[in-house]
Amino acid sequence: MASLAASAASASATYSVPAEWRARAMIKPDTYDAFYAEAARDPDAFWKREAQRLDWITPFTKVKNTSFAEADFGIKWFEDGALNISANCLDRHVAERPDAIAIIWEGDEPGDSRIISYRDLYEEVCRLANALKANGIRKGDRVTIYLPMIPEAAASMLACARIGAIHSVVFGGFSPDSLAGRITDCDSQLVITADEGLRGGKRVPLKANVDEALAHCTSVEKVIVVRRTGTNVAMKAGRDIWYHDAVATAAPDCVAEAMNAEDPLFILYTSGSTGKPKGVLHTTAGYLVWASMTHQYVFDYRPGEVFWCAADVGWVTGHTYVVYGALANGATTLMYEGIPNYPDFSRFWSIIDKYQVEIFYAAPTALRALMREGNTWVERTSRKSLRLLGTVGEPINPEAWEWYHRVVGEGRCPIVDTWWQTETGGAMISPMPGATDLKPGSATKPLFGVKPELVDAEGAVLEGAAEGNLVITDSWPGQARTIWGDHERFFQTYFTTYAGKYFTGDGCRRDVDGYYWITGRVDDVINVSGHRMGTAEIESALVAHAKVAEAAVVGMPHDLKGQGIYAYVTLNANETGDEALRRELVQWVRREIGPIATPDAIQFAAGLPKTRSGKIMRRILRKIAEGDVSNLGDTSTLADPSVVANLVANRQS
Ligand code: ATP
Ligand code: MG
Repeated sequence: MASLAASAASASATYSVPAEWRARAMIKPDTYDAFYAEAARDPDAFWKREAQRLDWITPFTKVKNTSFAEADFGIKWFEDGALNISANCLDRHVAERPDAIAIIWEGDEPGDSRIISYRDLYEEVCRLANALKANGIRKGDRVTIYLPMIPEAAASMLACARIGAIHSVVFGGFSPDSLAGRITDCDSQLVITADEGLRGGKRVPLKANVDEALAHCTSVEKVIVVRRTGTNVAMKAGRDIWYHDAVATAAPDCVAEAMNAEDPLFILYTSGSTGKPKGVLHTTAGYLVWASMTHQYVFDYRPGEVFWCAADVGWVTGHTYVVYGALANGATTLMYEGIPNYPDFSRFWSIIDKYQVEIFYAAPTALRALMREGNTWVERTSRKSLRLLGTVGEPINPEAWEWYHRVVGEGRCPIVDTWWQTETGGAMISPMPGATDLKPGSATKPLFGVKPELVDAEGAVLEGAAEGNLVITDSWPGQARTIWGDHERFFQTYFTTYAGKYFTGDGCRRDVDGYYWITGRVDDVINVSGHRMGTAEIESALVAHAKVAEAAVVGMPHDLKGQGIYAYVTLNANETGDEALRRELVQWVRREIGPIATPDAIQFAAGLPKTRSGKIMRRILRKIAEGDVSNLGDTSTLADPSVVANLVANRQS
């Protein structure tokens, strides 16, 4: 990797599509162009065809009926069709390949695993769906799922979908308070949880957390409890039921409810990087068409291949690629209960060898953490089964991209850097391995039906190579339909900043080849002496230094420049930060990007504040840099609150 300056100028290395991918891939360069053009020119024809990937109970006659304008705002896809998502994810595969593996589950402890066929999963889901009905759950009711990464989590989601209940999955790392807030926000009638979770050898008291949360919630009538660790937990008579008891007595068949295309499927709260989490609502047909199509094309997925998305089902990535997109396509999906560094830093790569994983998809935060520990943890494993790698969640620094490509993938595997959001339902800007030449750090090109546009602060459209705010000008099937219980907030948040357009909240640059580079959150843009800079570029320059593992930069008030640059830097294992290194890093950034990006302050930090989904929360870092720590805003989604006190204590002034 030459330097970030080169990549920033979009003149970095380009990796062309390998010959074998060009030969085997479903989407080749000319297919990409033809499909993209057709989806733009004639969305009805394109999506009518793509929707045939699903089994419909009642075929639709209308395809697209959408408007982002205030006067006639509305988002409807396939609106008169009916289908069932769980039938699409299970029944049709059971009919053809009942013994095919649906889920490979790897437990927290190496050696703990389960292999679940499509028939097994079908029966489990039907039993649970019947159990939910027996406990009063009907179409349209809300069910909160607060589980570890165990197969019962996927079964619970599908059981809800089977009977038309709306699920809200809450990541198992959330506190009783956060859980209570999410239960109350959508008035769940039932919670599915476990006695305890296991992560990195540590026990998480899930059932105790639910008990504490329910002291503040009035809507919940029943709690179904999976026995995971077997620890003793309190069971409240009349309210709490063991999962194994509930399914044992239930029938292994359950009619799949006919759901209208626009019936709700799930509510999911965003990560909370930029503020209070939003309860995003996705509906049935459009979401599944999008999940299935993007899973197939972006990962070039073929049935039989082992696909591993390392995200938790508590995040949208887990919803779309661990569960719905993968199972709709009849995939073998790997679910891993634990964390990347337990029992050691080789765990991801050992799991890949153990199950001969072909496609691996993970977040930059995990990759940076593993990269920090050195290459030997990777190199002691084979990884020969791998043929495609992916990333999602944050911009991936070119340095980390190169490491992933060279060390993990041994230069063999293309990397799909997928840009998307909870609100978009699935990947929006991403390479396809047989069609797109890769540039490290760029999410590359839009998917079919995605019309990105860059606008300036006033909303003027920027053409050609440019940098601005990323908006999407037309609807796509996987789009969120509302924020649960607050349609006004939905409209205000996404459709009023630039009237008639969906505002992503992200900054973005388009290069001369039409490639998109996410530059960071619009709220985080730093303005130094009138020069606007995204956070990603400066952070990537820092990460490109041999001693730096991770970096986060924010603006701070500066008398002369308006804003100065404050950088938080985490060093590689075994490095220590001192004055000399501080000076070296300042010089390094000046050389990599230019004097305009000179950091005014560098704080060495043992850890950065991250959301529980692993994203850096710059809004908190900004407050610390400004010296305004009295009100840090919503910190409920912070993974490790102790990080903040540490940062405050070591603030540079
Ligand atoms: P909130 O909306 O509550 O502030 P959030 O935006 O972090 O939280 P998510 O929906 O989980 O919640 O994250 C979506 C965001 O993640 C995107 O808007 C973008 O900033 C970032 N992102 C996701 N994938 C990528 C990627 N491949 N490259 C760059 N950024 C990405
Ligand atoms: Mg967001």
